[in-house]
Amino acid sequence: MTAASAADVASALRGADAVTILCHVRPDPDTLGSGLALGQALVGLGMAVEVAYPGDLPLPSAMKALPGSELLVRPDAVVGHPVAVSVDAATLGRLEDLGEVFGAARERIVVDHHVSNTGFGTLDFIDPSSDCTASLVLEIIDELGVTLTEPIATCVYAGLITDTGSFKWARPSSFGIAARLIEAGVDGAKWSRTLLDSHPFTWFGVASAVLGDAKLESAACGGAGLVYATVPHELLSSMAWDESESLIDLVRTAQDAEVAAVFKESEPGRWNVSLRSKDKVDVTTIARAFGGGGHIRAAGYSIDGTSDEVAAALLAQV
Ligand code: MN
Repeated sequence: MTAASAADVASALRGADAVTILCHVRPDPDTLGSGLALGQALVGLGMAVEVAYPGDLPLPSAMKALPGSELLVRPDAVVGHPVAVSVDAATLGRLEDLGEVFGAARERIVVDHHVSNTGFGTLDFIDPSSDCTASLVLEIIDELGVTLTEPIATCVYAGLITDTGSFKWARPSSFGIAARLIEAGVDGAKWSRTLLDSHPFTWFGVASAVLGDAKLESAACGGAGLVYATVPHELLSSMAWDESESLIDLVRTAQDAEVAAVFKESEPGRWNVSLRSKDKVDVTTIARAFGGGGHIRAAGYSIDGTSDEVAAALLAQV
């Protein structure tokens, strides 16, 4: 790994004719906003740009509305340019099949803010002190000398507002960045509603079923408590994939638990687990024990088994 700065990344990009930008699987607004912000900046410099994420999940309508989404290509249509940038992926595995495209590029640039990211590019611009990857992309755009237009600012804002939970856990620097983005013309009220405060009515039924079945283990985590909920495959398949992402934000509101977990059965017997903590437990330690990763207060992993087995495995670990 070669530790790189925003300036290093900008000079590597400046000479390129064409750039492939890769977002992580099950894209969230940070990876996508980062990809589309950088993509639009590079298009402005006259480069050919393609942006892609692995898998065949449709883009949630909220993210489809982001400026620059016309740069997105399906994974099987990716050309694979000599310069590739991975945005917000903590590991090469998060790029799934597109990891091959990344690996085949001459210059492989990793831009990320996950503390667990050990680097997998020729240039690794990894800064865990940043609340989101989109803010790091803004640093690169500034180094490139590209004007912060409203469409670019909107994409950066999408990453910033979602990865800070509407600034609930934002660090001081993020407020300065937000002010700059709003001044550049971002409609903050519209995008917070679109990206964070919007669900189809059918989601209410799913959320009530999941919450009604949640379990509290007060003795877990050294007495700090664990609350968890499971979303069986049948229930999970009844909702749009991105709608399940916000269930953890409901479960983690339990006053009685330091750690919250949501088990989502992506395929029968296969579970994706989201973990959150409040202010004591480092959940990356738990996630890593199961081969996952993430941030100190938000991490995840995948595991096989029945719902009882995967819950017992977590309880044994905390
Ligand atoms: Mn992120």
